[in-house]
Amino acid sequence: METMKKGAVFLVGAGPGDPELITAKGMMRLNDCDAVVYDSLSSDRLLALAPETAERIYVGKRAGRHSMKQEEINELLVRLGNEGKKVVRLKGGDPFVFGRGGEEIQALQAAEIPYETVPGVTSAVAVPESVGIPVTHRAMSRSFHVMTGHTLAEGETLPPDFPAFARLSGTLVFLMGLGNLHPIVEGLLEAGKPADLPAAVIENGTLPEERLVRGTLADIEEKAAEAGIKTPAIIVVGETAALDMSSTLRRPLDGIQVCVTGTESFSDRLIRSLTALGAKAENVCRLGLKSYSGGPEMRRAYGNLSSYSWAVFTSANGVRLFLEGLLAAGKDFRSLGHLKLAAVGRGTAQELRRWGFLADYVPDRYQVEDLAQGLTELADGGDRILIPRSRDGSHALNEALEAEGIPYDDIVLYEVTAEWRERERLAEILGQSQYLTFASGSGVNAFFDGLTEEERRGLDHIRIVCIGGVTARALEKRGRKADIVAETYNIPGMTAAVVKDAAVSGDTREKR
Ligand code: SAH
Repeated sequence: METMKKGAVFLVGAGPGDPELITAKGMMRLNDCDAVVYDSLSSDRLLALAPETAERIYVGKRAGRHSMKQEEINELLVRLGNEGKKVVRLKGGDPFVFGRGGEEIQALQAAEIPYETVPGVTSAVAVPESVGIPVTHRAMSRSFHVMTGHTLAEGETLPPDFPAFARLSGTLVFLMGLGNLHPIVEGLLEAGKPADLPAAVIENGTLPEERLVRGTLADIEEKAAEAGIKTPAIIVVGETAALDMSSTLRRPLDGIQVCVTGTESFSDRLIRSLTALGAKAENVCRLGLKSYSGGPEMRRAYGNLSSYSWAVFTSANGVRLFLEGLLAAGKDFRSLGHLKLAAVGRGTAQELRRWGFLADYVPDRYQVEDLAQGLTELADGGDRILIPRSRDGSHALNEALEAEGIPYDDIVLYEVTAEWRERERLAEILGQSQYLTFASGSGVNAFFDGLTEEERRGLDHIRIVCIGGVTARALEKRGRKADIVAETYNIPGMTAAVVKDAAVSGDTREKR
């Protein structure tokens, strides 16, 4: 293939919502792109598949923000393409099903930007399927017809061809129709559909928030209103809407909802692990790491490694960023050979081990105070200690070292930033969930710093899962005890802890 100077735009179908319903090809395009342009919350959940360095550009509607006009999106795609970037344009469902993907292609054609479309699983079929409604079924429905309920918007008049739709005998699937449920139902009845014809409305199909209302043409409007069904929603009308072919597989975390906090890639892996066992899981607070490993302070430290006798790590992220930064600074691990290494807890020690280093010291109880105590016993005034860690690190370590007259450099290696997903719905989501997970002390701090007093009280019912002792201590400092601490400090360990706890709580629930 000729090398691309101009870049290219990949119009990728993101699927109906469940991030695992993207195609393998779509996933590959995401894995290897320079920019992602996305507009719905569901495709938001796929962003973890893009390289960390890829630009993420949101062009949709979200509380308080205006969405970009279609022309502006077209221009953006053309501009990114002209900059030589590999751009993934994520579109919900399939790009060409009511997605305005065609308009984006026309703009790319006009600008002679190379492009490719990657088909997606359309919500028109997958959302009914997710609740057990097949769009066709032998001897019941021989065709299905997908239409938009949106063109009805102005003046609530039905489009001229509506009576023709209504006479079709197959399953009718309306996208973007919820706001016009009334004229749709009326139009169908007027065109001669029987009042007892089955109908269903599905909100947020294939997602943790999925909701289903079943009824008939006579009562579906009232039932949907009663349930307070919101967009995005799909309306299905026809005999098959009465069928229930929903999954009968029973898994250990069915019915369990988990709120996850942590970095994008960690959360993504934990969510996969939990949802594979039936849980509904989503990231409520996404942590980002801003690394200063290339900054002046760290450069000086990398340059003066021989002046230190100990290096102390207080998180797995610290280990990773420190070692990556060392390589980026043009040095390798031989420059660390003389150093003794301390880790605050087992997770941090495990990360060191992954890189080929055995920690010389890990305190028995995993907190910074114990680490400080141990270090003051092992080191003395002749030592010099390097502490590359996050900005919100505990001062207990510095105080203990100062008290003993042990020289040290506490250097900000990284900073933890928190980004809330659907901040305005946080209380509601926490209220519905049984578990909340934390994978680091900085994660605990970032989360609690962002909570209102009322939201904090709203956590009383939820069981908090911590990846390990250090995280649990950070939580304790916030006035809350961890309900569960994983036995092994990784994703399988956290998943196993939730499964075990859910089985026990499930038993007590049944006994009551
Ligand atoms: N290209 C998309 C459809 C875009 S139009 C596709 O192929 O699926 C957007 C409409 O799709 C919404 O108004 C809603 O009617 C429907 N929709 C998309 N995802 C949905 C979901 N997860 N649950 C219910 N409806 C959904």
